[in-house]
Amino acid sequence: MAYAYDDQNIFARILRGEIPNKTVLETEHTLAFEDIRPQAPVHVLVIPKGAYVTYDHFCESASDAELVDFNRAVAAVCRQMGVTADAGEGCRFISNAGEHGVQEVPHFHLHVLGGRAMGRMLQKVD
Ligand code: AMP
Repeated sequence: MAYAYDDQNIFARILRGEIPNKTVLETEHTLAFEDIRPQAPVHVLVIPKGAYVTYDHFCESASDAELVDFNRAVAAVCRQMGVTADAGEGCRFISNAGEHGVQEVPHFHLHVLGGRAMGRMLQKVD
């Protein structure tokens, strides 16, 4: 099996400039923008510009340059938003993948959530 990328997904359309976004940071290979339905005072989505569906797809298939650029961009976003665990109070990184991960938009994105305590990582089911 190989990942099939739907180039009509909403983040692909944002990358093509068809839909506006509130950009937090842009680099050669990466875009970070505010989530349209924020679930915390800081809720930024960081996405690669390349056509990757999930985090593992990105890790498996992206070039070294894209991987480095993305990760450095995540760090820069955290600094910019004041949610690092050294100067700030920390944050939560989430990336949903596929059906069990309850992923809505099939373009890899990392949620950076901060500005309040995030609670437990997952809801307890028992
Ligand atoms: P996920 O469930 O991990 O796929 O998350 C998708 C996220 O994309 C949700 O938090 C949405 O609020 C967010 N989202 C959907 N459309 C937009 C948009 N046009 N601009 C910014 N964020 C969006």
